[in-house]
Amino acid sequence: MTREYLKKATLTAKSDASEVHETVKSILDDIEAGGDATALDYAKKFDKYEGNILLTEDDIAAAAALVPEKLKRDIEFAHSNVKRFAEAQKGTVSDVEVEIVPGMIAGQKAIPVDAAGCYVPGGRYSHIASAIMTVTTAKVAGCRHITACSPPRPGVGVAPAIVYAAHICGADKIMAMGGVQGVAAMTFGLFGLPKANILVGPGNQFVAEAKRILFGRVGIDMIAGPTDSLILADSTADAHIVATDLVSQAEHGYNSPVWLVTDNRALAEKVMELVPGLIADLPEVNSQNAAAAWRDYAEVILCSDREEMAACSDDYAPEHLTVQADDLDWWLNRLTCYGSLFLGEETTVSYGDKATGTNHVLPTSGAASYTGGLSVHKYMKIVTWQRATREGSKAIAEATARISRLEGMEGHARAADVRLAKYFPGVNFD
Ligand code: NAD
Repeated sequence: MTREYLKKATLTAKSDASEVHETVKSILDDIEAGGDATALDYAKKFDKYEGNILLTEDDIAAAAALVPEKLKRDIEFAHSNVKRFAEAQKGTVSDVEVEIVPGMIAGQKAIPVDAAGCYVPGGRYSHIASAIMTVTTAKVAGCRHITACSPPRPGVGVAPAIVYAAHICGADKIMAMGGVQGVAAMTFGLFGLPKANILVGPGNQFVAEAKRILFGRVGIDMIAGPTDSLILADSTADAHIVATDLVSQAEHGYNSPVWLVTDNRALAEKVMELVPGLIADLPEVNSQNAAAAWRDYAEVILCSDREEMAACSDDYAPEHLTVQADDLDWWLNRLTCYGSLFLGEETTVSYGDKATGTNHVLPTSGAASYTGGLSVHKYMKIVTWQRATREGSKAIAEATARISRLEGMEGHARAADVRLAKYFPGVNFD
């Protein structure tokens, strides 16, 4: 089997964690010591914002009035789809009760975390969809307190459509604060917020590093790096659509890798010919992002057959994986590593990013080899319980005492012994 690189990346997306660690750690320490006032100082410093931090009902109504009616319907449509999918996911988590040995019942319960902190990025683009993905899913999971935070624009505040989306999806509090200070406010319970039990949502390297440092004292969904996408295409693929889809994902940022894996040289060459023109045709900032991502991070890989293509894709474990090839069921059964899979030309990553109902907060940088993306399950704790009759206790106690003694844990053994002695006095259990 061979892999021929028709285009090879000159840079690889790696975490900037070490470079930003000191900055983020010192901001977190400052805010923990200084509280609300220090968080406000950082909002002023990084986002040049001195307005309301916690939005009032009037602020929310004013934002809603600025959102065009058609966009409101689109946000409601996306919310309804994400809610429907999350509800179906929730149905797959069931409480369990099983009699392990006669008289010993073991069980499982799924309990939502109490307070969720949803980070909605807002530096480069207004990520309306991230508000829908994180807040809706927390609501369906059953979290009692949901805070959404997003960076304010200087002198203006959070983008009105983000405020509208967070509100209709079920956020109890909406906070005009982004970056490390936003994450810190939700974790430390500043501005009267409940302390978050879990922080979710994508963000830039400062947000990701803050979540990484705080993990342990608060839960997190994942540490997200730059978004990445891979397209598997064979001779049946439309080169113009493949090229458009690659460019659509390179637009995310200068370091967002896009990869094309194919067994058809003519298709690969046509796509490589089309991409520069499609990039040049984007608005200026988007074009700059996509051009840098294509130049430094993109790869085009020619494989010998579809099995080799699938193996190559699994090695990359992309966040977004698209198949534009014959026999979609074969690919669905064969592929094992991806955050979300887009089967066929009729769907595309943009649909999933915004409105198919699946969550767009997904594992990046190869993390799809060991985890999926944000789901209703991330907001739920799968906990266990047990209860026994005296007969059931006896069956477990004897093994418990012997295993404990072998381990040298005499105290554990005696917790079993004392029960045997009480329930079955005079019986020798050696
Ligand atoms: P952001 O909201 O993540 O970050 C903006 C904040 O960064 C600002 O509020 C500011 O406080 C802080 N900041 C800026 N410069 C700083 C500095 N020098 N020191 C400390 N803090 C600083 O918005 P963004 O920057 O546009 O990044 C959004 C990210 O989210 C992108 O990387 C994008 O790809 C990613 N994203 C991922 C997904 C996904 O599902 N994987 C979805 C949407 C967005």
